[in-house]
Amino acid sequence: MRTAVFSSKSYDRQFLEPAAIGTGHQLSFFEPRLSAETVVLARGFPAICSFVNDYLTANVLGQLANGGTKFVALRCAGFNQVDLEAAARHGIRVARVPAYSPYAVAEHAIGMMLALSRKYHKAYNRVREGNFALDGLLGFDMHGKTAGVVGTGRIGAIVAQLLACFGCEVLLYDVVPNAECAAVGCYVTLPELLSRCDIVSLHCPLTPATNHLIDAKSIAAMKPGVMLVNTSRGALVDTQAVIDGLKSGRISYLGLDVYEEEADLFFENLSEQVIQDDVFTRLLTFPNVLITSHQAFFTQTALEQIAKVTMANLTAFESGCEPPNEVRAGGAKK
Ligand code: NAD
Repeated sequence: MRTAVFSSKSYDRQFLEPAAIGTGHQLSFFEPRLSAETVVLARGFPAICSFVNDYLTANVLGQLANGGTKFVALRCAGFNQVDLEAAARHGIRVARVPAYSPYAVAEHAIGMMLALSRKYHKAYNRVREGNFALDGLLGFDMHGKTAGVVGTGRIGAIVAQLLACFGCEVLLYDVVPNAECAAVGCYVTLPELLSRCDIVSLHCPLTPATNHLIDAKSIAAMKPGVMLVNTSRGALVDTQAVIDGLKSGRISYLGLDVYEEEADLFFENLSEQVIQDDVFTRLLTFPNVLITSHQAFFTQTALEQIAKVTMANLTAFESGCEPPNEVRAGGAKK
């Protein structure tokens, strides 16, 4: 099936092209993000393949439908960027890659915790400059700390297991508790988790209910000196409230792999440009903030799996089968 691949980078080609061999799918790679301005590129393509910051708004979906597109293959797990009701209205079906490597994201979250606690980001630069002094690098043991996991699905469950292996007391919160997870931690209410944890790691999807789950009120309820890690979706966190929390010292460590306004920043080399987002640049000034640009998923295993499942989704749709990973308004199949 002819498929327009948006937001494509060299690494997308590297994994999608080999996965397409023998499937009959013809992929056309477009570097721009999908938007009302670029949707014209999809004209005549029965399918498109998009990523996390390609916003499939009602307007974009309407234009896709007018151009003959009937299928959207998301090469990611999250689907908060898609207006699924509009997709249904326009007769466009949407499928995602629900689980490509939960380990990739879980391990990145743990990596952020270790980097923040042991200040690897500072130590790396110091040693390269011949500065072998230890002052300012004092860390803490993960062992014995209380760590909270918000959202105990595929990724959160692995984070909980890894934290238990470190010897943390693990507190869990989810609207649908996971029986397997309960073996390594204890389910509590969100207020209890926030008030007791030294480390809080977010792994729930972005929905209207979780938008700004971490805001000024929840930050005020957190343990002073808390470490907050968000590898899920940027808008789970009210960034301005987090900045205030960092300034007051309520938050002592912040690890972000996602940012609510990341669409204009992440995945691009902007090193020669003046960044216009003052909230983001303020975050960069804190010594106790570590930001990665939505790279938690970015492992060999995950990209191979994304490519494989994306091809299977395209094949299922083309052959008239129900796409196994379809997402519809009201929820996704697990
Ligand atoms: P999942 O669907 O397996 O698990 C999500 C869990 O969150 C579920 O158990 C669900 O019940 C729970 N949840 C839903 N609403 C909640 C709420 N209001 N409060 C608490 N918990 C709630 O998803 P997953 O595969 O574990 O992925 C989690 C999130 O990670 C995704 O939604 C995506 O946004 C993000 N993600 C980020 C990256 C990255 O590269 N940074 C990569 C993949 C996924």
